[in-house]
Amino acid sequence: MSNTNERTFADLGLRRELLDALTTLGYEEPTPIQAESIPHLLAGRDLLGQAATGTGKTASFALPILERLRSDGREDEPTALILVPTRELAMQVSEAVHKYGRELGARVVPIYGGQPISRQLQALRRGVDVVIATPGRAVDHIRRGTLPLESIGIVVLDEADEMLDMGFAEDLDAILDATPAQRQTVLFSATMPSRIEKMARRHLDDPVNVRIARETAEPGEAPKVRQLAYVVPRSHKPAALGRILDVEAPTAAIVFCRTRHEVDQLTETLNGRGYRAEALHGGMGQEARDRVMGRVRTGSAELLIATDVAARGLDIDQLTHVVNYDVPSAPEAYVHRIGRVGRAGREGVAITLAEPREHRLVENIARVTGQPIAVEKVPTIADLRNRRMELTLATLRESLLDDDLDRYRTIVETLTDEFDLVEIALAAVKLAHEAAGGDQDETEIPEISLRPRRAEGRDERSKGAKHGKDGKRPKDRSGKGEKGERLSKGDAVRLYFPIGRAARVRPGDLVGAIAGETSLSGRDIGAIEITEKFSLVEVPARSVDEVISAMKRTTIKGKKVAPRRERF
Ligand code: AMP
Repeated sequence: MSNTNERTFADLGLRRELLDALTTLGYEEPTPIQAESIPHLLAGRDLLGQAATGTGKTASFALPILERLRSDGREDEPTALILVPTRELAMQVSEAVHKYGRELGARVVPIYGGQPISRQLQALRRGVDVVIATPGRAVDHIRRGTLPLESIGIVVLDEADEMLDMGFAEDLDAILDATPAQRQTVLFSATMPSRIEKMARRHLDDPVNVRIARETAEPGEAPKVRQLAYVVPRSHKPAALGRILDVEAPTAAIVFCRTRHEVDQLTETLNGRGYRAEALHGGMGQEARDRVMGRVRTGSAELLIATDVAARGLDIDQLTHVVNYDVPSAPEAYVHRIGRVGRAGREGVAITLAEPREHRLVENIARVTGQPIAVEKVPTIADLRNRRMELTLATLRESLLDDDLDRYRTIVETLTDEFDLVEIALAAVKLAHEAAGGDQDETEIPEISLRPRRAEGRDERSKGAKHGKDGKRPKDRSGKGEKGERLSKGDAVRLYFPIGRAARVRPGDLVGAIAGETSLSGRDIGAIEITEKFSLVEVPARSVDEVISAMKRTTIKGKKVAPRRERF
């Protein structure tokens, strides 16, 4: 583990109100990207950071922004502007800034396409400290004169590579050029293609470079354990974990969560599912922790739900499984966690639950550890039923071989006067099955695939804007045309969206809606054609169903857009 990981939020020099907010949220220590970035940002430096979703990058820039808010005599004009690629991310970042800045009374306004502009105008007029905007909508507001930029002291470009891929390069240049020259500028991107470097050279002033260490864990350093990952939307995680545990049947497992709250909630949920789960986090006194460890060591608890901080230095002999309820924020943390199983030649299993957008972290971990992580399907209801039936069968078989069953003979003999022997057996099996938990858990968990690793050489591919801003395909379609580059012909399916230029739809709206609501990112989406009345969007064949069903639940420019496969 790097030293930066041992630092506390107080060490980073954050004000009391922010430290209180972080404690309330159950954060125990800064993630590596936070420990590295926050001191530089507090010192006023520009920063170029390489970090993907799941590393804690949002707090890396949100906390320094909030640190600068004046407590009194506040102006009504915004002092910070955060630019993000999608509506979804705008809402997410805005919630995060609001959470961290609650005690400071921070006024946060997200502005994005798809929401009536009048509501945003009202919010901006009421006074605002931090604006989180998608580039297209920010430009609209700047043109109308409704987003004042004179007081902006810091601009953040979040997921800059996604924004460039969505064709927002010109918008970003225009916005940055319209903000005060002496502003602080922060650019976060999951990848660093040359276009991002160029952008950084143009708009950042002597930036600090921060990236979460890639090569800190030597390949092969991780112990040889069976490594699995499951892709699960956040809302389905507790149910998915329950199912995975049912199928894996660990003797003892440690489940790592990011925050104290998550630890407490998950412990409760798993106890509700019939597990003997114990919580362990930094908010507990030493005595309480010792009691918990005692119960785990004697086997009276089978699951230990813990934060990294609380579990540091723990060594539990009988552990068979390590579960990452969230993808760890850096590969070193992953290696450290899974090092608790698979020791001394014993078998170990490491399970990681990843949200669809966290694919990069999982890929990075596999690369750093030099070991594959198999992406498995969450057991379905049918898998679970089969597994439970198998368990009932095994229990009955054991009982038939070992138990003294003679004292139940009278019951069976009495019943045989009225019923067939097989029927009696069936009723007894049913009771045994139900007593062991039966078939609960009837909600199906949607199947989502983790995006496959893209081929190398992406820098080259992402050079030109992918979707023309006018909605036309890029002009250069010669040779390795862009369709062939990202989506090979056989893989791409065109979807028809019943919305077009008449509704002022732009490529960014379509890409933003799809990237925001599905596991796809801007890069997975191919050519887009927008006509007066409808639009055609290329998506990977494997994701067609996911896109159609997600788009049925959403709106673009306030309109229902239910897409369908293009008909010829
Ligand atoms: P991000 O990479 O910014 O999308 O953050 C990923 C998740 O980690 C979010 O759910 C945050 O609430 C959470 N998070 C961020 N920083 C910390 C921290 N220091 N400790 C625990 N959780 C965190």
